[in-house]
This record gives sequence, structure tokens and C-alpha cells, in this order.
Amino acid sequence: MFEPAAFGLERKEAELIERARCFGQSAPAPRAARHDRDATFPTENFRDMHPEGLLAICVPKADGGLGASYRTYSIAAAELGRYCGATALSWNMHVCSTLWTGALADELMMSAQERAEHNARRRLHYARIVADGAIYSQPFSEGGAAAAGTVAFGTEARPVAGGFRVNGKKIFASLSGAADYYGVLCTERGEGEDASRRNTLYLAIPADAEGVSIVGEWDPLGMRATVSRTLLLKDVFVPEDEMLMPRGVYFRAATCWPHMFLTLSPTYMGLAQAAYDFTVRYLRGELPGALPVKRRMYPTKQIAVAEMRIMLEQTKTLWFQAISEARANPTKEQVLRAYAAQFTVMENANALAAKAIRTCGGQAMLKTLSLERIYRDSRCGSLMLPWTAEICLDRIGRESLYEAGETDE
Ligand SMILES: Cc1cc2nc3c(=O)[nH]c(=O)nc-3n(C[C@H](O)[C@H](O)[C@H](O)COP(=O)(O)OP(=O)(O)OC[C@H]3O[C@@H](n4cnc5c(N)ncnc54)[C@H](O)[C@@H]3O)c2cc1C
Repeated sequence: MFEPAAFGLERKEAELIERARCFGQSAPAPRAARHDRDATFPTENFRDMHPEGLLAICVPKADGGLGASYRTYSIAAAELGRYCGATALSWNMHVCSTLWTGALADELMMSAQERAEHNARRRLHYARIVADGAIYSQPFSEGGAAAAGTVAFGTEARPVAGGFRVNGKKIFASLSGAADYYGVLCTERGEGEDASRRNTLYLAIPADAEGVSIVGEWDPLGMRATVSRTLLLKDVFVPEDEMLMPRGVYFRAATCWPHMFLTLSPTYMGLAQAAYDFTVRYLRGELPGALPVKRRMYPTKQIAVAEMRIMLEQTKTLWFQAISEARANPTKEQVLRAYAAQFTVMENANALAAKAIRTCGGQAMLKTLSLERIYRDSRCGSLMLPWTAEICLDRIGRESLYEAGETDE
């Protein structure tokens, strides 16, 4: 998708991205239709990722991982998204538990004590992934305003001897029933204390801990193979060592490293490319599974493909710029560009898929082909908190017109 010479990718970066592309073609692609139809989790894709090192793509090299940077991971995830959106999105939930605690946390201000504590704890999590192929997930959403970042999480952790007692409910918990650890955001609240976002804890809760249960149906429009059911936590004891970040550090990350929330976009960048790729192959009469009928000679098809290509190039260029400038304490311009990139990828992925269906025609949207799945999966992108398409628009408008602290009073 991103030609190394054209985009100035380093050799090591290009190699990892190539590895993800080859993996996407060989393992998830042929399994995608079945898991989408049955709304089942592609566990075997994750088992196959382990020997490839892909579960540990963002685990630092010193801890046995591949040590991919934010940008390298993002492009690798986009490559995977071309072949199975649900696998790429679930992989993102897993990888972020290592990226955020790894390269991202390395750029955050921490006291020497916090740093030592963090490095010791994250080694435990990384060892589980590197040695045992453990899978982590990221159930943050609760159905209220917390996932948008405006109020404290309703899931609460009461400090007790040796750890925490956690109670709460998480909706849309992708990888429910498949993850070995749920990376839960919750509010640490001592006796008589008010709930505060500053006291957000990021805890890895073992899936088999007493008090963890999964409830509800999962029969959605798209991203069906993410199996994002509801996670209930009832008086779950979580040892202190399961902290994925020291106290206060998640809040610092969310404030100083806003691009951490752009990590839902790579999957949809891949889906945008997939919609375009499908259209070109279909119109050339070269799509496996479709009749070898050429439709490329009609001027209307050529114009549609030209428009799709322009939209895809615009999307890729903006997104590449945004993922390349992800860092701690970005400038205001960089943050606004990240919102714009998220909005553009999420909206354009679905616009491209819709246009692909109109251009290719009726036979192209049959369930025997991948386009209708790409269309349904791509519809989900702009709904994903905390940076939904609406929230991005809201912030771009407001923050372009107001400097911090300005009012009209
Ligand atoms: C396929 C899929 C997989 C998912 N996997 C996960 C997962 O693994 N972990 C996880 O934590 N979540 C996950 N989510 C959940 C997702 O991020 C959202 O939390 C979920 O879609 C929330 O839906 P809601 O209807 O409760 O949103 P609501 O909070 O009701 O918001 C509805 C809409 O209102 C707008 N809105 C909300 N708050 C504000 C605000 N403060 N300002 C302006 N506008 C606002 C937004 O545009 C939003 O889309 C997943 C979602 C999907 C679709």
C-alpha cells in the first residue's frame, strides 16, 4: 500500500510491513468470510500470528519482541486490514496494550520510581505474549460518556491488600471469550473519594479470574468476527502486578500522546485500499471467484475508478503524514491533522466501498465475494470512540476557532 521508496520507509520497517501483508494474504483472508457469516472469533489467526512474531510486533526488542514503531505498526495493521477487517481491528486491541505500555510510555514523563515499576511490570505482560502467545484486549467502552473521555470510567477499582477489587461493565468488548487478558480502564476510588479521570487505572484482568463473565448477543452489521460482547466484572480481585501503567500514567498518556487514539484507523485504511483493489480487479475481469468478464472499457467505469483513486491517494497521504508525526506533546497543528486523518480514513473507507458497489454492479455485492463485507465493516469506523467522525468534526471546528482558554464572554 505504501511503496517504501515513495514514502521513505526504512528497510526494517518495510520488511515488517511486508511480513504483515504476506500473513494477511495467507491466513486471515481465506477464513474471513466464514467468521463474518458466523460472527465467530478467528482464534486460529491469532494462534498463527504467534510464530510469526506478530503478537509481539510492538514489544520492545529488549523484551523479545519485534520492536515496531508506531508508524511501522500502523502500516502493518493497514496491510492486515486489506484482507480481514475484523482480524486487523482485534489485533489492534491486542497490540495497543504493548504499544501504549512500550514505545509510547517511553516518551512519557515518569519519575525514576514510576519508570522502574513500569518496566518491571510490563516485562511480565510481554513475557506472556512472547513466550505463550497470550492475547490481550481493550474493553474501555461503557455505554456512557467515559469512552469519549469526558467523565471518569464507571468501572471502579477499590484498593485492597495486594491489589484491587474491580466492579463494572464494559460494552463492545472485542475479543470477548477469546482474549487471555482484558486490558480494562477503570477509576481507582478509595473510601470517600470522588471519581476522577486523573485516577484512571489500566489493568490487565485475567479472563479466568473469578467474577469475570461475558453476556449478551453479538449480531451486528459489520466487524462481526470481533465478537464484541459485554464484559461483566463483579468483585474481581486484580493483583497490583496486573497494572499496565503506574497510577496516573494513563491520564498523562491520554493528555500528552493524543495519537494513541488514532490507532483504530489503520484497519480502515486497509479497508479503503481493499475496496479500490477489488474494483480494479473486478472491472479488469480478474477477480478470483467472479466471472472473467471485462467491464473496464466503459467511460463511466473509468471515471469512477479515477475518482476512487483520487480519494484513496488523498486519504493515504493525509493518514501517512499523521501517523508519521505521532509523538509526545504534538503541536496543535499536528493534533488537528490527526483528527482530520481519522475523520478522512473512517468516512472515506465507507464512501469508497459504497462507490465500489455502485461501480462494479449487482454481482459484485453477492456474499460469495468480499466487497459486501468490506462495505459493512467499513461502516463501523466512524462510530468508534473516542474519536468518532462527529467528535473529530466537533474538535476540528472548535479548536481551529478558539485557542486554549478563550471564550466569547
Ligand atoms: C466493531 C466494533 C468493535 C468495538 N470494539 C471495542 C473494544 O474492543 N473496546 C472498546 O472499548 N470499545 C469498542 N467499541 C466501541 C466503540 O468505540 C464505541 O464505544 C461504541 O460504538 C459506542 O457506541 P454508543 O452507541 O454507546 O456511543 P454513544 O456514547 O451513545 O455516542 C453516540 C455518538 O454520539 C457522539 N458523541 C458521543 N459522545 C460525544 C461527545 N462527548 N461529544 C460529541 N459527540 C459525542 C459520537 O459521535 C458517537 O458516535 C467497538 C465498536 C465497534 C463498532
